[in-house]
Parts: sequence; structure tokens; C-alpha cells
Amino acid sequence: MNILVVGGAGYVGSHAVRLLAAAGHEVWVYDNLSRGHRAAVPSGRLIEGDVLDGARTRQVLREKRIDAVMHFAAFALVGESVAEPAMYYRNNVVAALELLDAMRDADVRRLVFSSTTATYGEPDAIPIAESTRQDPINPYGFTKLVIERAMADYAHAYGLGYAALRYFNAAGASPSGEIGEDHDPESHIIPIVLQVALGQRERITIFGDDYPTPDGTCIRDYIHVDDLGAAHLKALDRLEEGRGICVNLGTGQGTSVRQIIDACRSVTGHAIPEAIGERRPGDPPELVADASLARQILDWEPRYTDIHEIVATAWKWHQSHPQGYGTK
Ligand code: UDP
Repeated sequence: MNILVVGGAGYVGSHAVRLLAAAGHEVWVYDNLSRGHRAAVPSGRLIEGDVLDGARTRQVLREKRIDAVMHFAAFALVGESVAEPAMYYRNNVVAALELLDAMRDADVRRLVFSSTTATYGEPDAIPIAESTRQDPINPYGFTKLVIERAMADYAHAYGLGYAALRYFNAAGASPSGEIGEDHDPESHIIPIVLQVALGQRERITIFGDDYPTPDGTCIRDYIHVDDLGAAHLKALDRLEEGRGICVNLGTGQGTSVRQIIDACRSVTGHAIPEAIGERRPGDPPELVADASLARQILDWEPRYTDIHEIVATAWKWHQSHPQGYGTK
């Protein structure tokens, strides 16, 4: 298929691009490079552009005879969404609606969309199944939920076939060592801990050790970025006009912040000093997926089920690229 990967220069998108190309698809990356990296895109595959520019998107969809779109281009930091909601509504809602309308005009009916566990808010029960009520507690989660609802309405009215893939915590890097995670500023736990191991930071601050969890630190479900990418390929094969698939992408296993730090110590051989800080506002104690629906309807299984293996792929990337891509 001819696939347009919107946001394909970003962390998860760039990994999906590699897997799509390896599976024989004709892949084009559409990215405004506001947070993505030119160097993350295979040579000759980048179309610089912005989905807010609907006319340009329509032109690209038609010129490249696009069969399906994957939409990764969104801002994805909870704290930032609380501080800068306008930016989130514009980039995650207005831009995604522009994309949906450009697809309608160009008669492209297949879309795989990056959604998030943040659409659930603070669920009462763990693990979190897809049937859990979606009740986001921050603008980020709400922007993603708006687009899930819009896609459902577009499916019903206009025949869109879509998948909303609700990621838990994306982690790790391509085992090739060529692409990986590079955010500026970095806020995610694994890259920050590995920056301590590289000597770029003095210590890791644990945001709260008084949560109601076995070791007092927050528990998350870390899913390898290539496993996310593989699920996108499976979802692509299962899109049907007029229907939507909404699934969680996680491993179903919870890992605490302390367990992440210990895994990084064991993988890197570095002592990694730690400090205990305040809780980070908005962090629920535990978010773990019920990952059974994705296994059932996508026939997808995460290949990385050991946090040490996930950290090892990230470590390979950070060691070989201590300054990340180093440039846009
Ligand atoms: N965390 C931490 N120290 C840091 C960064 C993150 O203790 O410097 C914790 C954070 O409070 C959360 C977990 O690590 O419980 C995962 O945070 P991250 O930002 O990686 O992902 P999120 O769960 O926010 O999507």
C-alpha cells in the first residue's frame, strides 16, 4: 500500500516507518519537524508539511495516491497540556480534524490513529480494559478522546475505517541502534535514567515514593516502540470501511519506577544515584493494560516482555547517540 505517515519523524512514528518499509509498503513521511527529526526519516521519504494546511495535505494524498494514513503527529505531554491547552487543542484536535477532512476529500478511507491510556483518566480498576469508561483528567487525554469520537462519527457517516490504538508507556528503541527516543526537554523516565548512566545528569529524582503500591513508586506498563509499530501494521490489515477498532497496546505487566531504575542499573552497570522528590501532579499510582483484546482482534503479541530487554535497546541507542539526533 501507499502509506502516509503523519508525524513519521517522531519517536513512535519513525519506528513504524521502518517496519512498514520492511513489510514492502511504499511509505511517505509527512512531518513539520516541530518535534520530529529529519535524521529519523529514511532518505528521500520526507515531505515537510503541516496537517493544519489542509490544501497541501489534499495535494499530497492525491499526488502520492495514498491508500492509508497513520497519524502520529500530536503533542503528548500531560503537564504541558495543562499549562498550554491552546497548543494541544490546536495541534491534536484542529489539525487531526483537518486531516480527516483532507482524507474525505481525497477519498482515503483508512486511518490508524495514536490514542492513549490518558483517555481513561483515573480508572477504578486495574488492569484497564477497553470497556473502561473514558474520562480524561487532562487536556492531552481529552484531545485524543475528541478525535476517537470524531473518527467513530466519520466511520458511521462517511465510511471511514479506522483503528484507535491506545498506547500505554512507549519505551525502548530499534535494536538496529539507528533510531530512538530524543525529546527536548526529555521528561520520560527511561531516557532520563540512562542520561544519569551516561554522566549527563547527576541523579534520577523519583517523583513520590509514598504511593499505595508495593514499593511506594508509580507503576506503568512499558511497551516496546517496535511492538507498537508491529501493532500498527496488524491494524492496517484489519481496517474495514465504516468500522472502527479501539484497542489497548500494552504488555499487561506493571513495572514500578524503582524497578525501572534497578533494570537500568543492571543493564548499564552504573550505580545511578537517586533522590526522592515530590509527587508529579496528575500521576495516577498505577496504569496497566488489559492487553487481551489486541491479542484477540489484531493477532498481536508484544515481543518484548522483559523490562531489561526494553532498557537494553534504549541503552544501545543512548550510548551510540549521547546527544540524540544532535540536530533537527
Ligand atoms: N518519573 C519519575 N522521575 C522522572 C520522570 C518520571 O519518577 O524524572 C515517573 C513518573 O512520575 C511516572 C513514571 O516515571 O510515574 C513514568 O513517567 P513518564 O514521564 O516516563 O511517562 P508517563 O507515565 O507520564 O506517560
